[in-house]
Amino acid sequence: MSESELGGLLRAADVATTAHDWAAARRALDAAAVSYPRDRDVTRRAHAVDVFEQQASDAVPTEERPRHAFFHSLVIDPAKAFDHDGDSAGYQEWMTTRDEFARILDSLLERGWMLIDIEDLFDVDAAGTPTPAVLKLPPGRKPLVISIDDVNYYPYMEDDGFPLRLGVDDRGVGGTVMRQLDGSEAVTRDGDVMPLLDEFILDHPEFSYQGARGLMAVTGYAGALGYRTNDLARADHAQLVATAAAVAGRYRDSGWRFASHSYTHSQRFKDASISLAQLRSDIARWKAEVEPITGPVNVFVGPFGFRVPHGDPRAAELAQAGFEVLCPVSSFDYLRFQGPLMVMDRINFDGLEMRVNAKYLVPFFDPAKVRDPARDR
Ligand SMILES: [Zn+2]
Repeated sequence: MSESELGGLLRAADVATTAHDWAAARRALDAAAVSYPRDRDVTRRAHAVDVFEQQASDAVPTEERPRHAFFHSLVIDPAKAFDHDGDSAGYQEWMTTRDEFARILDSLLERGWMLIDIEDLFDVDAAGTPTPAVLKLPPGRKPLVISIDDVNYYPYMEDDGFPLRLGVDDRGVGGTVMRQLDGSEAVTRDGDVMPLLDEFILDHPEFSYQGARGLMAVTGYAGALGYRTNDLARADHAQLVATAAAVAGRYRDSGWRFASHSYTHSQRFKDASISLAQLRSDIARWKAEVEPITGPVNVFVGPFGFRVPHGDPRAAELAQAGFEVLCPVSSFDYLRFQGPLMVMDRINFDGLEMRVNAKYLVPFFDPAKVRDPARDR
């Protein structure tokens, strides 16, 4: 069996796992194990399927308040990111280093947090309005949603040690395309939150309820996932969209979801001065350029923590455009069903929160132990 045949079976197993079809996942993994009996991509998936199936029979309704944490792209090379150039101060505030992320995951697992699918938090009634769902988890576990903002690998991040874009490796598994020292490109599984979380869940399937993954929030003004699909005039535009869509599809097959983070990330979201007409045209542009890559989405992740007052016509506009969930930012466990939307605040697990709001992070991890000394270079 070739590596690419193996990759096909891994993908089939991931699709089945995401659909909670444990029997189909086992069939794909049993077939892979004939040629690759000790391969860790196979053995860890097989173990995870057993764990996920058991979770479903152990789960009971929970009263625990669901929380939602978010990250930006991880700082992979602190020497490049914190090199005191014009972007360093921003990275210090808005980003988390790879070492910090690893310590955060260990702490979340140790403290009983369990990754859930945001879709498990709500049902949608006949009128299309989200209503609270009964959330079930194994006893003693606390529900957590994770999202990653601006999965765009903006041009300003080049040369600061971040991935160039998302990609798939030789086995077709989702990863990050990193520039190597010799100038070549390689797909790695440790270049950002998404592949690192995938690997962590393979190592610790008890962290994820039935294989749940996170949400990638994507803007459009610089393309998506590191593919510069915003340049509609380039000769290879259709090819680029197809490549990006294939990568997004592989991540979706593993349980990842996508969200709109607006097309423009306009400053007008910051003070909520964006008009109804501006919001409408922003969403239309996102749907035209980004949705062909991500597929349809129902979550709007507000740029700069954008939120709208209850009853604001812009909430109806979001609902009209197909959004069921709005995610602003705060340090608190705010979760409300407001008219046509579920509104769920998210807390930033980043340098800024560790510096000025450390007490709000204590339920999740000890900021003093997590903080990376590489920030102080
Ligand atoms: Zn953003």
